[in-house]
Formats: sequence, C-alpha cells, structure tokens
Amino acid sequence: MATPVDTLHRPLSELRISVTDRCNFRCDYCMPKELFGAEHHFLPRSSLLSFEEINRITGVFASLGVRKVRLTGGEPLLRRDLDRLIGMLAEIPQIDDLSLTTNGALLTRKTALTLKNAGLKRISISLDTLDDEVFQAMNGVQFPVHQVLEAIDHAAAVGLAPVKVNMVVKRGVNDQAILPMARHFHDSGHILRFIEYMDVGNSNGWCYDHVLPSGELLERIHQEFPIEALPSNHSSEVAKRWRYLDGGGEIGVITSVTEPFCKGCTRARISAAGTLHTCLFASHGHDLRKPLRSGTSDEQLGQLISGWWKQREDRYSALRTSQKAIPAKIEMSYIGG
Ligand code: SAM
Ligand code: SF4
Ligand code: SF4
Repeated sequence: MATPVDTLHRPLSELRISVTDRCNFRCDYCMPKELFGAEHHFLPRSSLLSFEEINRITGVFASLGVRKVRLTGGEPLLRRDLDRLIGMLAEIPQIDDLSLTTNGALLTRKTALTLKNAGLKRISISLDTLDDEVFQAMNGVQFPVHQVLEAIDHAAAVGLAPVKVNMVVKRGVNDQAILPMARHFHDSGHILRFIEYMDVGNSNGWCYDHVLPSGELLERIHQEFPIEALPSNHSSEVAKRWRYLDGGGEIGVITSVTEPFCKGCTRARISAAGTLHTCLFASHGHDLRKPLRSGTSDEQLGQLISGWWKQREDRYSALRTSQKAIPAKIEMSYIGG
C-alpha cells in the first residue's frame, strides 16, 4: 500500500504504541497523585489491545510505510510478558527500529537481557535529577535515584547502548539538576536529553513560567562544557543534537515548546485501548479496536488509517502560542508519551 501523506506534506513513518495506561510512578508533570489516586479508573483488561492485535495493526502500519516503532505507556514494563510482544514486532520485516521508553523501575539485568534477546534495539530511560529528595517528590512514589541509575547500567551492559536518558526540565523544580546531570552523564556513553516541560493533558497544571527554554539550558551547559551543534540523523528527529567539544559525548534537547517541530512530525500514536491519535495534543482519536475486532481485513484497516492520515492537519505546538481556547486534551499516560 502507498504511504499516505497528510495535508502538510508529512508522510506517515513512525508509530508509538502505548501498551498500558497504568503506571507505578505518579510524576507531577504527567500523572499527579492528587488526580490519579485510588479512585482513578484505569482501562479494564478487555479494553486493552492484545499482543496479537498490536502485532497485526503494526503490520498494517508497516505496509503503509512505518519503519520505526516505540513502545511506551503509562509504564510499558507493567505489561506482563512484554518481551513476547517485542519478539512478535521484531519479526515484521519492514520495521528496522524497535525501541522502548521506560521509567526503569522494573528494569533488572535479567529483564533488560530478555528484552534485548527478544529483539529490542534501543531504550530510553527517564530520570529527572540525581537529587533523591527532588526525584522522590517528582515521581510521587518515593522511588530512589540509585535504582534508575542501576537500570541504565543494566540496559547498557546487555548491549542496549547508547542509552538515552530523558530528563523533563521544570523551572524552579529541577532546573538545578541540569549541570549535575550533565556532569554525571558526560563521558558515560549515554545520551542525556533535556525535554521542555509540555502542556500535555489537562491535569499537570502547566504554565509557561515552568518551562525552561532550551536556549537558556544550552547556555548554562556551554559555560561549563563547551558544546557545538550536530546535524540531525534524519528529517523527523525531534531532539536537536549537540556534542561536547572535549569529546565527552552527545546531548540532546527537545524543544517542543520554544521551537516546535510539527513541520517534520511523521508520527502516529496508538493508545492502549487501540485509538489512533495523529498528535500528542489531540482531543480526539480514531477507533481501531472496533474494526480490529469485527472482521475488518488488513487491506480495509490500511485504507482507514491512510484516509485518516491524509486528512491530518495537526500542528498543535506550532500554534500553541496563538491559541486562545485549548480543547480538552487526552492525558499523556493514556495516549503514550
Ligand atoms: N513511563 C515511561 C517513562 O516515564 O519513561 C514512558 C511513558 S512517559 C509518558 C514518556 C516520556 O514522556 C517520559 O520521558 C516522560 O518524562 C515524558 N513526559 C511525561 N510528561 C511530560 C510533560 N508534561 N512534558 C514533557 N515530557 C513529559
Ligand atoms: Fe509514569 Fe512515565 Fe508518566 Fe512518570 S512520565 S507518571 S513514569 S507514565
Ligand atoms: Fe507532532 Fe502534534 Fe507534537 Fe506538532 S504538536 S510535533 S503535530 S505531536
């Protein structure tokens, strides 16, 4: 099937799959514990796409031109036997990049090895600071820093290197951690990536004052470790790459707020319940679960997806500053970050 191209000339080429809406953390910028408490209703098991359904729909996306797949959530390692899904997706011939984003809490050496052996190519692990007090307040469940650092080591030791370490930067909350994190990961072989705090969902109480522009962040790093820009690996890469002039490795900045990258956004997302979203900030999606469960052929599924993609005109971040009324958005833990 031909690769669909949207109204802004962006082809479909990447897929993010949320395998669960549940998480063992309550990060204040994603699932604040005040709002995601005991009363919160997560999806029942029957609403989640099965591994077989995920595999089938990924095959359809591959036939439409998708080459990169990332598993996310919620916390993807909460989904039992995730290696079985990875094994299935790794068999799809067109998929040449299969990766996972995790908070690392459940990533033992054994799990890392199992995922790698199943066919996982790359991993991103989130860590917002090296300061235990700040980290425990941010993750909302008192999870200690050292266990995430161990998870990063496990991933690298089994060959999932270089590990990308994702740090969401909130001004006034963890921006003091920028330099300690840069020092820690300088010369480590891992790639530290700073993510501007985004207004995903409706529950994190986002305001612009909490955003630290990446330009300012790079300036702070440059004072201690001179850096220079690197060319991007491909046109749809979201992180802007920089390298330390002393040979200490690479860092990245994800400037979704201050320098949006909607122009090159070729990414589709599937929620854990099987809804296709064509933007992280979408207020609605297209149901794939129903057709998947009601005898629709692969050909017909491909036509549905292709039709939706061709109508796509999303560029939320590029419009953010000019938007007055923002419709209710879907939570990131649901849609898949
Ligand atoms: N639970 C996994 C984790 O935290 O790595 C995967 C899902 S999480 C939604 C994916 C990524 O989104 C993480 O790196 C997280 O830090 C980032 N993220 C979540 N909320 C964010 C926000 N409001 N702004 C920027 N990044 C955010
Ligand atoms: Fe969970 Fe990841 Fe969201 Fe934190 S960012 S609450 S770890 S899904
Ligand atoms: Fe893509 Fe939407 Fe983000 Fe723009 S705002 S880069 S269209 S996900």
